[in-house]
Amino acid sequence: ILEVQHLEKKFGENIVLKDINFQVRAGEVISIIGSSGSGKSTLLRCLNLLEEPTNGNILYRDHSILDGDFSPTEYRTKIGMVFQQFNLFKNMNALKNCTIGQVKILDRSKGEAEKIALENLEKVGMEPYIDARPHHLSGGQQQRVAIARALSMNPDILLFDEPTSALDPETVGEVLETMRLLAEKGLTMVVVTHEMAFARDVSSRIMFMDEGVIVESGPPEQVINHPEHERTKSFLKRYL
Ligand code: ATP
Ligand code: MG
Repeated sequence: ILEVQHLEKKFGENIVLKDINFQVRAGEVISIIGSSGSGKSTLLRCLNLLEEPTNGNILYRDHSILDGDFSPTEYRTKIGMVFQQFNLFKNMNALKNCTIGQVKILDRSKGEAEKIALENLEKVGMEPYIDARPHHLSGGQQQRVAIARALSMNPDILLFDEPTSALDPETVGEVLETMRLLAEKGLTMVVVTHEMAFARDVSSRIMFMDEGVIVESGPPEQVINHPEHERTKSFLKRYL
């Protein structure tokens, strides 16, 4: 679905991503691991065009997303994003959070949008809370609403940036379980995470990043159990 070619991102003189190359194929679950500051969020934000790459290219279904005639708004409905801080609309209940984008961006009718929202809220186990506003929900519940909201746009790929890092320990599990179910149903996902058990058990591929470079990439069994690079080994020692 996506092909990243020689991607580079600089902030001023600071080169944050260097010659990043990989593909995302349908049905894959890719986990990105790496220390703080290694460029993981910047990479996700480039995939979603929240940041503009300095160099290189990103192809979406063989079309460059950096071409002038490409519509970022339309593209972002295809490549959804779930954030660490949920970013729900605070003055709207769970249902409204999941319908507004559909109505405003996809031009769906209110009825159709609500039907799709309910299906997705049910998928994440949040249908009992459709009337609740975010401040009445736990962090884990808010994150599940955020996932339902992203799913309601029918994305081709869902990007997750440390979706459980801001959660109380008791609610981390429910969000990881929701993500595991989505992976089993075939959703294509790219997940930045420090949850090594999730990365190992759910991903088809793990990419380890350090200082803006993908140092090592492969099946979980290879990257976690038989890392080739010293930097991967010392990172894993801190997390396992
Ligand atoms: P963490 O695990 O802490 O979330 P990360 O791997 O996601 O880290 P990034 O947030 O991508 O790392 O940051 C990589 C580098 O880019 C850091 O040195 C950061 O200071 C820099 N950076 C990120 N966003 C910006 C920005 N908008 N302007 C300037 N520098 C930035
Ligand atoms: Mg980050």
